Amino acid sequence: MSYAMKGRVVRRVEPGDVLGVEEELYPGDGVYVDEEGFVRAGVLGEAALDLESKTVVIKRLKQPLAPRPGSNVVGFVVGVRHDIVLVELYGLVSLSPKVAWLGEFSGVFTGGIPIGQVSGEFIRDIQEYYRVGDMVLARVLNAISPYQLTTKPPQYGVIYALCSNCLTPLEPAGQRSMRCPRCGSVEARKVSILASSKLLQVNIRRLLAVKRW
Ligand SMILES: [Zn+2]
Repeated sequence: MSYAMKGRVVRRVEPGDVLGVEEELYPGDGVYVDEEGFVRAGVLGEAALDLESKTVVIKRLKQPLAPRPGSNVVGFVVGVRHDIVLVELYGLVSLSPKVAWLGEFSGVFTGGIPIGQVSGEFIRDIQEYYRVGDMVLARVLNAISPYQLTTKPPQYGVIYALCSNCLTPLEPAGQRSMRCPRCGSVEARKVSILASSKLLQVNIRRLLAVKRW
C-alpha cells in the first residue's frame, strides 16, 4: 500500500465548515472554495484529506442524523416551566456561510433551554420569551439526551410563532417582540435575528407541512 493511500485524515463535517485555504488544499467531491479562498464543506459527511495529493473529498453521511455539541437545531416548544423551556428537536440546520437545512432527525430527541441560557437578560417571567407551540432555533451544548440548549446569541430564538388571539403567524418586530399582521396584537418573545431569513422560512413551511400541530 502506498503512503498516499494510508495517509488520510478523516473528520465529520457540516456544510460551511472550513477545511483549509486554497493555497494548501485541492477541493474534491463535495467541497468548494468560497470567495475569500477558504476551502469549505458543501455537504454533511466525512471529509477525507489525502496527505500526499493535498486533495480533500467528502463522503456523504448515510448514518441517521442526531444532535451533537455545537449543532444548530430547530425544534418545537412543548412545555414552559418557571426555570426551563422544553423543546422537541426536529432537525439540523447550518448557519454559515448561509442558512441551510441539513435534514430531519430520524429519532425523537428532547432538549431544554434552562432559564440561564434563554437570553443574556435577567428574566422575571420565562413566558415573556417562549410559549408552547413556538418553533425555535437553538444551539446544542452537550452530547447526550436530554440535550441542553442555548438561545443566548442573537441568531437563536423564536423563528415561527402564532398569534394567541387569532392563530395568524406573527412577524418579528425587533429582538423582543412579534406582531400579528392580522389583529395587530404584539407578543413578547426572544426573537431570532434569522426569523425573517427567507431561506429559513422556506424550510419552516416544509416542516409545518410535515408536522401538523
Ligand atoms: Zn392576531
